[in-house]
Amino acid sequence: MTDPLDWIDGALGDLEQAGLRRVIRNRDRPWSLGGMVDLSSNDYLGLARDPAMATATARGVRWGAGAGASRLVVGGSPIHVQLEQAIADWKRTEDAMVFSSGYMANLGAVQALVGRGDLVLSDALNHASIIDGCRLSGATVKVYAHRDTAGLVELLEAFHDPSRRTLIVTDGVFSMDGDTADMAALCEVAGRFGAMVMVDDAHGSGVIGPEGRGTAAAQGVADGVHVHMGTLSKAVGAGGGFVAGRADLIDYLRNRARSFVFDTAMPPAVAAAALRGVTIARSDERRRQAALDRAARLADGLGLPAPEACVVPLVVGEPDAAMAMAGALEDAGFLVVAIRPPSVPDGTARLRFTTNATLAPDTIDRVVAATRAALPPPLLAPSPKTDR
Ligand code: PMP
Repeated sequence: MTDPLDWIDGALGDLEQAGLRRVIRNRDRPWSLGGMVDLSSNDYLGLARDPAMATATARGVRWGAGAGASRLVVGGSPIHVQLEQAIADWKRTEDAMVFSSGYMANLGAVQALVGRGDLVLSDALNHASIIDGCRLSGATVKVYAHRDTAGLVELLEAFHDPSRRTLIVTDGVFSMDGDTADMAALCEVAGRFGAMVMVDDAHGSGVIGPEGRGTAAAQGVADGVHVHMGTLSKAVGAGGGFVAGRADLIDYLRNRARSFVFDTAMPPAVAAAALRGVTIARSDERRRQAALDRAARLADGLGLPAPEACVVPLVVGEPDAAMAMAGALEDAGFLVVAIRPPSVPDGTARLRFTTNATLAPDTIDRVVAATRAALPPPLLAPSPKTDR
């Protein structure tokens, strides 16, 4: 009898050959991987490692290590409700709901908002969880070129049916490129066609805009966005995801988002940490500024354009080259991940630096020096704008 899993060896071999095989490396101590400086995690404000968050987690665990059921059954607690109210208050929306991850939030929201016969317009560089939500929805999906408003309008003119629902969905801060969507333009176009606008602000929430309210708020158009999605796993320092918006929208999603209805509720301890994290992320301007300053310092040192948030990509090209460069940086004591296809388009493998509030300015300067030493000269601008 042949082994039905025989094919796996060949499939892994193919990945290996293409330079795309991944291996998981775990931290050996809290917030340390072999003592390297972390320029890879999304703990932008340093909250995931903050003792205040650990205290909140310990308090929350009194409600159970696990939720034990979905929210619609008996999995909720006052902590979940407080967290949702805190998110709605922060995002200035009528209501909010939490999911067990940001991935689940996108999956469930997009799937519930549109269905067969409806239309979704999605930026080409949107996160995988949006793409999967689009697929799950069964709606007609049209992908517009990255930040191409004119292309979006053309698609709307060709495919929009006023008798059906239409959703425009975009990352706020793009996760692999660090640039931001033109939310004002998207809201204006959506208004013209009567389309819904959804923003995934996983990398903008807690980082940019007044009180860290995110990309749309930074651009002064938060009210034009119908569906505010974000994660609690990045700047907020805990885990989980959320959708905030009008009360009727949230009520509907609580009924129809499959990844909410059929998923066990977020563990109460995580909800308690997230609640504390939202409170701090919202009020601690100093942390936010530190994280953004470090990103600006890094980009400046590498001669890259000024970043809009805390994601600083250095595009290298082929996966092998990106891996070799990440290896050289590791040897110098810096943990910077090489991002390869399918996370990014072919030919755009990159080093993706992320900064956070715990990094000292002189650490950034050492990263800059090590990166300049490790990378082939043509990849870098001739010299940094300022000499630090
Ligand atoms: N959206 C974007 C843009 C992301 O970068 C991520 C995380 N990689 C997610 C959604 C998913 O969030 P989570 O990790 O909380 O599931």
